[in-house]
Amino acid sequence: MRLRTLDDLGELEGTRVFVRLDLNVPIRDGVVADDTRVRATMPTLTELLERGASIVVASHLGRPKGQVVESKRLAPVAPILQEYLGRVVEYVATDGVLSPEVEESCEALAFERGRVVLLENLRFDPGEEANDRAFAQRLAGLADAYVDDAFGAVHRAHASVAALPEIFKEQGRPVAAGRLLQKEVDALSRLLQDPPRPYVAVLGGAKVSDKCDTIDALVERVDALLVGGAMAFTFIAERGGRTGRSLVEPERFPDVHRASARADERGVVLQLPDDVVAAPEVSVDAPRHTVPSADVPDGEMGLDIGPRSVEEFARTLAEAKTIMWAGPMGVYELEPFGAGTRGVATAIAGTNAFTVVGGGDSLAAVAHFGLQDGFDHLSTGGGATLEFLEGHRLPGIVAVEATP
Ligand code: ADP
Ligand code: MG
Repeated sequence: MRLRTLDDLGELEGTRVFVRLDLNVPIRDGVVADDTRVRATMPTLTELLERGASIVVASHLGRPKGQVVESKRLAPVAPILQEYLGRVVEYVATDGVLSPEVEESCEALAFERGRVVLLENLRFDPGEEANDRAFAQRLAGLADAYVDDAFGAVHRAHASVAALPEIFKEQGRPVAAGRLLQKEVDALSRLLQDPPRPYVAVLGGAKVSDKCDTIDALVERVDALLVGGAMAFTFIAERGGRTGRSLVEPERFPDVHRASARADERGVVLQLPDDVVAAPEVSVDAPRHTVPSADVPDGEMGLDIGPRSVEEFARTLAEAKTIMWAGPMGVYELEPFGAGTRGVATAIAGTNAFTVVGGGDSLAAVAHFGLQDGFDHLSTGGGATLEFLEGHRLPGIVAVEATP
């Protein structure tokens, strides 16, 4: 599989490029609280502008469900984009995504180079999530070429991701992946195509139900699977351990049972924490102690993996040549329950393996502990990263693949 990239777009001088970005940033009190995703789009935007194009930027933000929701407007992103690009970003607040004013602004781009228009939140229009062709047709009228750089949205068959590039291709107009999408696909493909072994995956986070498909897919690919975070307790409880008030999802017992059996069958090491840090409540001042993971006292919950677990996970990680990590080992947001996540992150960063970390909270934890440089690839997608690593063909990637 080869992606069409910006290198395949040819001459861009005087053209208008529709760029689908992931500007789904956290907004608090009308202000962008973390602009990592905005910064990540700069390589593509600056390259297109330097090559003489004008740009129509489009993104989703949150889940407004096909209606205009004031707090989900992309307005707060415009000044940040403007600051990083060092040029005016035109943003027109409208009652939807498309309006005569917006279409006029985009029309005007055809006569000028280097201009940037930011469209309103794509999900204000019900056509976006419905992958509606008529909506995509109208978006297609705004530009001459299409670039997808929204890795975080490539697993969604939404209009701006799927129908839109199809229309461009049908009309013989160019489509391509942006630099961020290209980098993600390059790095994550290394985990799918013959990864150096041992290949060790570390999964954690809050809910096993979020990652059941990932577990099933990884059991077929990895040599060892290390499970921490709250999801470990569903495995432990299913095996008859005492988990107190830890987060357990009994309706997932059949899934974790099947995954464990499959791991056995394939000779995959499935490692669960041996000890955990337990407390009666999720609070920094709660009395806490380290207990065996299968013997959490009644009324308490396991909120982090314990020091012996960190040591044992680290031993497996030290042997690895490829590591994929998704999901914190504990409630890392609270200092008393952060040692497990810090320990595992440090162990991964300290190996010579090819290392990838993905997921919003996992990236936040890596940043919190200042360990970014220890990873070969920080994947910006949550669901998209996991679905890619499960081996699925994702609509937004298929759309910008080169035809053989
Ligand atoms: P990511 O965003 O990296 O995919 P998740 O969203 O799946 O990760 O999980 C992150 C959340 O899981 C964090 O808010 C963390 O506090 C929580 N978590 C991890 N371990 C536990 C635990 N043992 N009990 C309760 N919550 C946990
Ligand atoms: Mg999360």
